[in-house]
Amino acid sequence: MELTDLTITQAHQGLIKKEFSATELCQAYLDKIKEKNKEIFAFLTIAAKSALVQAKKVDSLISTGREISILAGLPCAIKDNILVENLKCTAGSKILENYIAPYDATVTKKLKEKGAVILGKTNMDEFAMGSSTENSAFGPTKNPYDLTRVPGGSSGGSAAAIAADMAIYSLGSDTGGSVRLPSCFCGVVGLKPTYGAVSRYGLIAFASSLDQIGPITKTIEDAKIVFEAISGKDEMDSTSVEKRFKIQDSRFKIQNIKIGVPSQYFVKGIDPEIEKLVRKAIKKYEDMGAKIEQVSLPHTEYALPAYYIINPSEASANLARYDGIKYGLSAKKEKDLLGVYLDSRQEGFGSEVKRRIMLGTYALSAGYYEAYYLKAQKVRKLVRADFTKVFKQVDIIMAPVSPFLPFKIGEKIKDPLSMYLVDIYTASVNLTGLPALSLPIGKVKDLPVGLQIIGKWFEEDKIFEIARLNENF
Ligand code: GLN
Repeated sequence: MELTDLTITQAHQGLIKKEFSATELCQAYLDKIKEKNKEIFAFLTIAAKSALVQAKKVDSLISTGREISILAGLPCAIKDNILVENLKCTAGSKILENYIAPYDATVTKKLKEKGAVILGKTNMDEFAMGSSTENSAFGPTKNPYDLTRVPGGSSGGSAAAIAADMAIYSLGSDTGGSVRLPSCFCGVVGLKPTYGAVSRYGLIAFASSLDQIGPITKTIEDAKIVFEAISGKDEMDSTSVEKRFKIQDSRFKIQNIKIGVPSQYFVKGIDPEIEKLVRKAIKKYEDMGAKIEQVSLPHTEYALPAYYIINPSEASANLARYDGIKYGLSAKKEKDLLGVYLDSRQEGFGSEVKRRIMLGTYALSAGYYEAYYLKAQKVRKLVRADFTKVFKQVDIIMAPVSPFLPFKIGEKIKDPLSMYLVDIYTASVNLTGLPALSLPIGKVKDLPVGLQIIGKWFEEDKIFEIARLNENF
């Protein structure tokens, strides 16, 4: 077994048993990145020097015989919209090409306090807008299973890095599916936590009422460990809450679990082979003793249109700060202030970002606000009410993550609507704030397929317990 094959638990054991040092572990990952990043392009920034310095610190801690945290000395990768002090933070955009993070995001701070070794920053769709990483201003990430295909997005670099053994775990952000979709496309585990479970302080804002940071890992056990490390109340994010969740439930029994399968998630449009695999995975739970119930989420068809009003609206407000003065790229051709604003935004933003800003500005404008934004917020309430009702009947919901297999690079990029459709099974979860996990359940045509496990608010523990029973297909 290579060092880069290890899970968090295995690598930790190896470190404390002194089978290898943190420096050796870090070097093994840096070598792997050197070998593979050229073709996969998962990393935008590789922080070899600071990673090795941190690894050395952990080694000296181990040599003194002191107890170390489970994440100490373990190499990880961070999506490039999460701040890591003194490293570039581009959010995949030209407008932030030379922006250096002046402080750590809360999640970064928490990982650093545990002794994490940060290998670098991962590629993503510009400002997390997209489902393929093709919207990155720096070029697309490739799917490690098939280099002609997309890894999913927007956290494509974070998921590809784990699938290609270039980090033990990574962080992504999920606004409409951006942790779950790339995890599904790359055959790894990805969790979108309950809204409020993880602080968003230091995450470059896309759509603030939907954004949430989550772990991407090789195993469920690892996802649990990282989630535990990054979650909790943070006074810098007023939407974050105290840990109300249990990470483990010793009385958990699959025989007591009722699984809801929403009929609206298995309609025309889904790849029949994906449906077959997802149903087979659900059947496995039935064989273990869980009760399966068909449930209805009647407003499902309105969720995606509502999501594509709410996210551009919030994005148009959040992205107003990139004016060529406060951050990053500044076009100085014009002499007057307005000219600097206009030219910087024109040059700095890619076409998908501009499309969202225009859509959002329109949806929020006087005269249209009621017809679009307000209406979408009402739909959001209805979607939430659907889930609340179903969760009175069942403990957990199971569904596909994506209706499609990883598609070819270039296949959907010219057709924004077909790209938006990729989020059909994931966006509702963000509208409602629920937690959901993508679990690899096998392959179709040699490409990974994921099962989406959606839990009640702050019941990540149940998701983990259920997911681990069906690990390692
Ligand atoms: N694909 C979705 C979008 O483009 C989701 C993005 C995300 O979760 N960051 O909005």
